[in-house]
Amino acid sequence: MGNQKSSISDDGFKLKNTSGRHATLWLSKIGDIPIRDHREIPDKAAIKEVTVKKETTGDWFVSFGLETDDADLPEKPNVDSLDATNSVGIDLGILNYIHTSDGKTVDWLDLEDEYERLRREQRKLSRKEQRSNNYEKQRQKVAKVKRHIRRKVLDYQHKLTTWLVKEYDAVFVEDLNVKGMLEQSHNARNKQDAAWRQFITLLEYKANLYGTHVVQVEARGTTKECASCGVETAKPIWVREHSCPSCGFECDRDANAAMNVLQRGFSELGLGWPEDKPVKTALPTDTTSVSAKRVCRGNLDRLSDVV
Ligand SMILES: [Zn+2]
Repeated sequence: MGNQKSSISDDGFKLKNTSGRHATLWLSKIGDIPIRDHREIPDKAAIKEVTVKKETTGDWFVSFGLETDDADLPEKPNVDSLDATNSVGIDLGILNYIHTSDGKTVDWLDLEDEYERLRREQRKLSRKEQRSNNYEKQRQKVAKVKRHIRRKVLDYQHKLTTWLVKEYDAVFVEDLNVKGMLEQSHNARNKQDAAWRQFITLLEYKANLYGTHVVQVEARGTTKECASCGVETAKPIWVREHSCPSCGFECDRDANAAMNVLQRGFSELGLGWPEDKPVKTALPTDTTSVSAKRVCRGNLDRLSDVV
């Protein structure tokens, strides 16, 4: 709605002073424009296209289409070197954002304040007379809060995906189309689907930059199936523990699902479950909770060379 957008390619642009606060974009028809960069452009990438766009908030945005030369990208580790210590399965949790097969949970962002603010600004908007100046101003305010939330989520996902591809040689995730249908209400599902899809896109992109395997696996039954013996048991959504009636294996519900994702990832790559590394050794009974802050802080120093 009212978005203006134009793409410039080839010799029509030049990016100057890409580092720090004084980044400048030169456009052939306009000249120098100071820009504020939200993310640095990786050294290995070449800028192929510049897109200038006016958002509904009234602000102008510049985005760069990047191209990386495959020859410069690191090689992915040999598949035969993968095992339960250097690979991870991820379950998209309901209570936690993600749960890993090696027993880490990473909490989802706390966006309570942001959503409260959004509701407040939307209430104000509903009281303005449509098409008035005040209405237009308030509409832009709402758009800004929404944009702030989107950016915060994206930023968080950037940090999380970078951490994963640096930490592991292989990352296995559920193909969510099926998972979503099984476990969530329609509205919640759409929102989480979009966030998860964005997460996977980032993960796959970084997998190439860092030389990490990322594989999507069948999500059906990851929660029901026992990671130890494979027997399926139905679990209502409020049952947080996995307790297998067949083999007696017990662990957290999401950890069990993450273990199944790991196993499916291995078989997807043509690897069996390593005999010498049985499920239980790879699965700590006590779950370590990794706070989002800790994950992010550990990566912040290195984030400068990350998209
Ligand atoms: Zn079992």
